[in-house]
Amino acid sequence: MRRTHTCGDLRSKDIGKKVCMQGWVRFSRDHGGVEFIDLADSYGITQLVFDPEDVPNGSDRNEISEVLRSFTRESAVSVDGIVRKRVKGTEDPKNKTGDVEVLITKAEVLNRSKTPPFEIGDQKESVLPGEETRLRYRYLDIRRTEMSEALRFRHRFLSAAREYFDKSGFVEVETPMLTKSTPEGARDFIVPSRVHPGTFYALPQSPQLFKQLLMIGSMDRYYQVARCFRDEDSRSDRQPEFTQLDIEMSFVDMKDIQDTIEGLIAHVWKKIYSKKLKTPFPRISFGEAMSKYGTDKPDLRYGLPMHHITEIVKDAPYDIFQKVLSKGGVIAGFNVKSEIAKDRIGRNEIDRLIEFVKKNGLGGMTWMRATKDGLDSNIVKYFTPDVLSKLRKKMDVKENDLLFLLAGPEKNVLETGGTLRRKLADDLELIDPDVFKFAWIVDCPMFETDPASGKKGAFHHPFVFPTTPLDAENAGGASFDLVLNGSELGSGSQRIHDPEIQKEVFRMLGISEEKMESDFGFLLEALGYGAPPHGGIALGIDRMISVLLNKESIRDVIAFPKNKKGQSLLDGSPQKVDDEKLEELQILSIAIDDINIGDIE
Ligand code: ASP
Repeated sequence: MRRTHTCGDLRSKDIGKKVCMQGWVRFSRDHGGVEFIDLADSYGITQLVFDPEDVPNGSDRNEISEVLRSFTRESAVSVDGIVRKRVKGTEDPKNKTGDVEVLITKAEVLNRSKTPPFEIGDQKESVLPGEETRLRYRYLDIRRTEMSEALRFRHRFLSAAREYFDKSGFVEVETPMLTKSTPEGARDFIVPSRVHPGTFYALPQSPQLFKQLLMIGSMDRYYQVARCFRDEDSRSDRQPEFTQLDIEMSFVDMKDIQDTIEGLIAHVWKKIYSKKLKTPFPRISFGEAMSKYGTDKPDLRYGLPMHHITEIVKDAPYDIFQKVLSKGGVIAGFNVKSEIAKDRIGRNEIDRLIEFVKKNGLGGMTWMRATKDGLDSNIVKYFTPDVLSKLRKKMDVKENDLLFLLAGPEKNVLETGGTLRRKLADDLELIDPDVFKFAWIVDCPMFETDPASGKKGAFHHPFVFPTTPLDAENAGGASFDLVLNGSELGSGSQRIHDPEIQKEVFRMLGISEEKMESDFGFLLEALGYGAPPHGGIALGIDRMISVLLNKESIRDVIAFPKNKKGQSLLDGSPQKVDDEKLEELQILSIAIDDINIGDIE
């Protein structure tokens, strides 16, 4: 390799060395005949200088000058030179190589670049081109330090994780990509088989069933950096393909799995941040998370818990509350403590928050301010002194605190409360981006009902071991989620290892005996061969890295993501396939709009 140093390497100690640098021309400027060039690669930027009056012996001034003329922006170039100290006063302390520069003795264009569609610098988001342009020219976007650093961070994370698994006796096993459907709650991407016309593989929504089969096969500590595919309707921060750190263990219970993950994250933390991470993570029941924070993925970097006050105010002759209560609704609220509300929430701000609540599905919001004489608001008159005093106690009210009360159907109050909590935290700047708060959400339900269809579905997936009788009203499952700063990083569970219980769960989910056999016969059969008690978890790597790096979107930590509509703007996929290819597959492709239904017999 001719290159002796990357663009991030040189320091004062290298002064006087002969070096060969190769990289991209980021920026060049002419200062009274002396040419300065910023040479960049994904390690940094080094200043190159060509001074026609100061050309070292043996170098050809005219030749260098000629070559530099074709140093267009973003061209790949090679430069030989001598490291020297920058002229006093021109150092760049923000740049790690900013004390030195390389005096060019020879220059060569390795490959000329066309004019790039956007400037590749260390711009702040505001001067970046739109995301669609960045995705169309992703290879140029990756030349930006911010992007290449994100990919390097991701690599460091995964390599630390691999190190942990290795030392803990885990084995990485690859499970198939061409497989049968794995129910994780999304649609499958399907792949037609040419050899068996009319049949299809599914791309895995997760390696769930195969990792369970590995446990039955005695591979008692498995992990995989697994690519998963889920065909979901476009959601702004989901990707049709994504990466999971997938884990499964035998002869364990939920705590063993959680301990393993805490060990993993603590190890990665130590490696990446050289810091000790506090474990164990707090455990919060699903019910508590919903009732306190209005979400099953609470951000614990700030307080603002929701207080439920239905019981306290239920007899107050306040019309709005009475109407809600007569329909089975609830009343809950927040106490925005005076220390954080200070003088920051005035009348106008309260009106804006009321509008926000209305937009989020509730009829409105009632508020009260605590003065030194008690609670003050135009609705206080509806509450007896006894009710007010209970309210103060329950909501821990002190002078100058501000109370916001929400009334409505329970689901709406919780959801809107959760959104309002987040908005208050944003508005009042309660969130510290450098703090990371992990928690386990435990005691999850076994089933959930789809509000639209009324159909019963698995809360996580159908392989979770039940912790209560299955027909109990709120049947529980041995599953849990890991959350970090308001994002869900992954779900895990103790699995069902008894085929009879597994069948029972399928039955509860309305899966017929035939469907059970055709879709899951292989699993049921395998469970019958001494399946060990087992369990595992999968952590969403894209999400985890984006939270750790405080990125708005998971797309910012994926090298080649799809856009929000599931398209790859770089290679133009998905795209139509040639008719011959479809013929081979015995597939007919007709856009639904072109079909005259009468033609189909
Ligand atoms: N298969 C689950 C998922 O992809 C994770 C697990 O239960 O291990 O979410």
